[in-house]
Amino acid sequence: MSNPFEYAPAPESRAIVDIKPSYGLFIDGEFVDGTGTTFKTVNPATEEVLAEVAEASDADVDAAVKAARRAHTRVWSRMSGAERAKYLYRIARIIQERGRELAVLESIDNGKPIKESRDVDVPIVAAHFFYYAGWADKLQYSGFGTTPLGVAGQVIPWNFPLLMLAWKIAPALACGNTVVLKPAETTPLTALLFAEICQQADLPPGVVNIVTGAGDTGRAIVSHPDVDKVAFTGSTEVGKAIARAVAGSDKKVTLELGGKAANIVFDDAPLDQAVEGIVNGIFFNQGHVCCAGSRLLVQESVADEVMDRLKRRMATLRVGDPLDKNTDVGAINSAEQLAKIRELSAIGEAEGAERWSAPCDLPANGYWFAPTVFTGVSQAHRIAREEIFGPVLSVLTFRTPSEAVEKANNTPFGLSAGVWTDKGSLILSMANRLRAGVVWANTFNKFDPTSPFGGYKESGYGREGGRHGLEDYLKGTSVKGADS
Ligand code: NAD
Ligand code: MG
Repeated sequence: MSNPFEYAPAPESRAIVDIKPSYGLFIDGEFVDGTGTTFKTVNPATEEVLAEVAEASDADVDAAVKAARRAHTRVWSRMSGAERAKYLYRIARIIQERGRELAVLESIDNGKPIKESRDVDVPIVAAHFFYYAGWADKLQYSGFGTTPLGVAGQVIPWNFPLLMLAWKIAPALACGNTVVLKPAETTPLTALLFAEICQQADLPPGVVNIVTGAGDTGRAIVSHPDVDKVAFTGSTEVGKAIARAVAGSDKKVTLELGGKAANIVFDDAPLDQAVEGIVNGIFFNQGHVCCAGSRLLVQESVADEVMDRLKRRMATLRVGDPLDKNTDVGAINSAEQLAKIRELSAIGEAEGAERWSAPCDLPANGYWFAPTVFTGVSQAHRIAREEIFGPVLSVLTFRTPSEAVEKANNTPFGLSAGVWTDKGSLILSMANRLRAGVVWANTFNKFDPTSPFGGYKESGYGREGGRHGLEDYLKGTSVKGADS
């Protein structure tokens, strides 16, 4: 049955973005040709090739690190915090001014719906720069000292390209560090537009360097001997490889890795709101979210009711053109990621879980996966244990709060969790018992620059955001435990 409310297409114009046929590397304040090869980035909604991008070689990475070092010793670490703050405020304001351009480009290169890039990603990116601009002249109150580490090597994933860039660059710069950042190979374009914004803000050359490339370029950054701090967001597998690569050096490391969050619905929860929270938890950004609520734990007495309402709601999700303002679920970011989602879903069926997908017409070209839910999932199933990183929800049931805690914590990860109930006391006791960096109550996937974010166990270590996010960019004596 088709949707009773037929919407006319409402595409956002892409005329505002100017995608060049090819891009170099941003080193020492200028775009330069790489000495290595190139690769292509595509629009995952159409498979159209968008641009040719330089793949930075070891020599290019070395040039970027040298530029960052010079900028650090000669300019950035000598500048007062108040002066650094002016640049960060300027960058934040330009991000707001060019917000529509950034949002459209992010949706084209990544596949995420324009309503998310416009209303979630870009506003939080600007907020992050504003927030850390405010810290730049107040580091003496941070509790972590005022001395920067030096050069930060930063490697980020493709699911929130600009937002992850902001989480990395804003605190590093506020503390007086300079950076060499590598965006993911499928989503390099907004980081390159950010490089233009750095030029527009007159940021001193070398303070921010953007080098594009894939795993080899990332490896060259994290293992470069003159990098003082490594910040990585991505898969647990690569995170472990990085931890091994830097072991024995005196580099500081933070790792933000995968997750398999439990979203726990008790029988006294307002069910319609919980269903919205379940949908937001797993279908936001096509489920390409490290803290996605990918395991729904629902109390047995309301399980049937919740599943009925959830399926009804899922049938109204609009899957398709990321630039259409009515789209809820966009394209899967790459052919590789689509293959991984398909494979794990097939394994779910083979292991005996029951699969249901929302009825929707998927476009002929591009990478697409219908919002999907698995019921009858047991803790032993791979779809209950492994991160799928796509629009696929695994549903388990429980009877008591203790059983919910036990199931929720039965995972190698520990990034986030959600609790839905009418009882404040139950929220607090659950939050105490869940081993997760973030616990949302009667909401999900809410982000704020003032709030620290990070994981337990295989979800990584270190915190980004808030005062906590300054700690791993400063040399000072830590006062851990004083108030954290
Ligand atoms: P990935 O680990 O394959 O890649 C992440 C980045 O690391 C990319 O830029 C990639 O080019 C680079 N890279 C690959 N091999 C490298 C190496 N040996 N050394 C250095 N860099 C290397 O992950 P992905 O597929 O791009 O992203 C999906 C994963 O990221 C998911 O597991 C997800 O949970 C995780 N993630 C975590 C967070 C968080 O904050 N915890 C946020 C977003 C994504
Ligand atoms: Mg792309």
